[in-house]
Amino acid sequence: MQTADVVIVGGGIVGSSIAYHLAASGCRNILVIERESTQGKGSTGKSMGGVRAQFSTPVSIQMSLYSIPFYAKFEENLGYPCDYRPQGYLFCATSDLQMAYLRTNYTLQVKMGLKDVRLLAAHEIRNMFPQLRADDIVGGSFCSTDGFVDPYSTMIGFMTCAANRGTTLWKNTAVTALRRDEDGITSVETTRGPVATRKVVNCAGAWAASLAQLAGVALPVQPLRRMLVPSEPFDGFSHAAPMIIDMSNGFHFRPEARGFLLAWNDPEETPGFKLDFDAAFVEKILTRAADRVPGFANLPVNPKRAWAGLYEMTPDHHPILGEAPGVPGFFLANGFSGHGVMHAPATGKILSDLILTGKTEMIDASLLSLSRFAEGRLIHETAVL
Ligand SMILES: Cc1cc2nc3c(=O)[nH]c(=O)nc-3n(C[C@H](O)[C@H](O)[C@H](O)COP(=O)(O)OP(=O)(O)OC[C@H]3O[C@@H](n4cnc5c(N)ncnc54)[C@H](O)[C@@H]3O)c2cc1C
Repeated sequence: MQTADVVIVGGGIVGSSIAYHLAASGCRNILVIERESTQGKGSTGKSMGGVRAQFSTPVSIQMSLYSIPFYAKFEENLGYPCDYRPQGYLFCATSDLQMAYLRTNYTLQVKMGLKDVRLLAAHEIRNMFPQLRADDIVGGSFCSTDGFVDPYSTMIGFMTCAANRGTTLWKNTAVTALRRDEDGITSVETTRGPVATRKVVNCAGAWAASLAQLAGVALPVQPLRRMLVPSEPFDGFSHAAPMIIDMSNGFHFRPEARGFLLAWNDPEETPGFKLDFDAAFVEKILTRAADRVPGFANLPVNPKRAWAGLYEMTPDHHPILGEAPGVPGFFLANGFSGHGVMHAPATGKILSDLILTGKTEMIDASLLSLSRFAEGRLIHETAVL
């Protein structure tokens, strides 16, 4: 029978980062199993690629404080591009309550060691981006090291480096069963046959709950559709702009190629494996776009280029990391709630530490364990876009 020291199920950015971090720590016999014919067909290839440290909880900020410098040195250290563009994230508050929220987050971020974040007065935002309708903007917060990466290139870079250090990637192969005995995981069944292993990592993205079910583990991860609308080339707004977030309704946008990428979390969306793009979304998002950037009333958009993907949501909008209670050798790296690309480097390091040594220095991993739900220890991340 085929054997592996660690089997990673799912070859998206999270599985790839864990494979890289394990391999970089000296683990050799790693097998990544991906059911699609190519990597990136899950959420990774659908992502907006935003990376930020402007969060509201210490653990989210800690994960960004590892991940963003990692992305800044990705090409230098891994030899492949991730296309990190530190153009920033600009949150625009339109009420005193929102500004107080940004101020609280700012204080925490600075306390945690984030150096490049600052609060902005309304007139500073107006001066930076005169094309924004700013009559209701009361201020904001901006972090210059936030920005964007190319999720697909990043995933390929991680996996190529892992492969160079001996990791095997099986594509076109689905994991269909997980076998265990009283000591924990013993093997996985796949469409290519069984693999004997004592360690399996669930990196199945939005499909993580069904994989966990194979080991008898109930995982509170739900798929939630998110839609993105790219514009055609447009020069009416700066291409050096950051991700700009209109806190009045959650509309946000960033430069992409010669145009802009528009996003908005429709509060009417309900959980489910919905991967079709809803044509009615175009008008909804363009209304919000033109409301905040009057020049976007003329933004050329081809709805055929728009797409939908899935967030993997948890009840407290933090990921679930670490060994599943009651199933030794079954590790979870799931439920990123919209932050799986930006937190992939930290997740790779944390999981590699936990798998190889049973502990990690980066965060208090017990905060993100699955048992927090049963024990009522939820920690709510509210800065979710
Ligand atoms: C529209 C949109 C915008 C986003 N924007 C951002 C953003 O700006 N910043 C950010 O950080 N995050 C963003 N995200 C979230 C981010 O894309 C995800 O959190 C991240 O890609 C999750 O990576 P993953 O590797 O866990 O999952 P995925 O990329 O979904 O990979 C999981 C893989 O597991 C495979 N798989 C599942 N079950 C099995 C099985 N039984 N056997 C074998 N293989 C299996 C799947 O085929 C898939 O390839 C966005 C997501 C969407 C949809």
